[in-house]
Amino acid sequence: MIVDYHMHLRNARGGIDHTAAAVEPFVARARERGVDEIGFTEHVYYFEQTKDFWPWPYYAERCHFDLDRYVGALVEAKGRGLPVKIGLEVDWAFDRADELAALLAPYPWDFLLGSVHMVGDHAIDNGAGLGIWAELPGDEVWRRYVEMLSAAARSGHFDVLSHPDLAKIYGVRGSDERYRELAAAVEESGVALEISTAGLRKPVAELYPDARLLAMSSAPVTLASDAHEPMLVGEGFDEAVALACANGRETVSVFDMRVRRQEPIG
Ligand SMILES: [Zn+2]
Ligand SMILES: [Zn+2]
Repeated sequence: MIVDYHMHLRNARGGIDHTAAAVEPFVARARERGVDEIGFTEHVYYFEQTKDFWPWPYYAERCHFDLDRYVGALVEAKGRGLPVKIGLEVDWAFDRADELAALLAPYPWDFLLGSVHMVGDHAIDNGAGLGIWAELPGDEVWRRYVEMLSAAARSGHFDVLSHPDLAKIYGVRGSDERYRELAAAVEESGVALEISTAGLRKPVAELYPDARLLAMSSAPVTLASDAHEPMLVGEGFDEAVALACANGRETVSVFDMRVRRQEPIG
């Protein structure tokens, strides 16, 4: 089985389109690429219901879509028999993570991604040498990133960690020690890791995560394109499957209503 468990429900131009009709081009692209099932994972900070959680202007500006409408569109698509799962990409909310989990609990999620994008007041991916990369030495950025993602793993609120070493996006590498810390959190929590092909389209031009993280833990894996438009569904999956297999993963995680099972990969 091949799953793509990370994508954003947008139109062909990348604009927000939280409708069941917008799901169809993603499913069509999945079929072309031999992807059996896709999971939508819009950013949690696009929704009005979460606007009180985020101190950052970039997030506040985007918090004006309706979470019920988004979930409703996916429920409708699922009801039409499309091979679609209902998910969300949830930023780590620090001391308010339990409160955010409670807000999300009533919705019929198949899985939730735990994600870290912000380090300090900056998106870690907002430019090489800019923002946090200009403020702090590389290893300190990594230390903070790993601390937050490890806390997200240990919280038990998430089924999968998304792009688990996003901090390498501009080629600043994490040390083995940082990877060991993250692997320990992953191992203790039982969370799955996504193998994301988004990094192939970024300056680092590699999959997330490094093979090191897969070698240091026994976590189950999902496959993920992080598509923000239908054409990118399943992009680069030959490489992702090869990385999984090279690191001893013979199965992929499949989620139904937040229950995980393992299916043979491929
Ligand atoms: Zn992300
Ligand atoms: Zn994403």
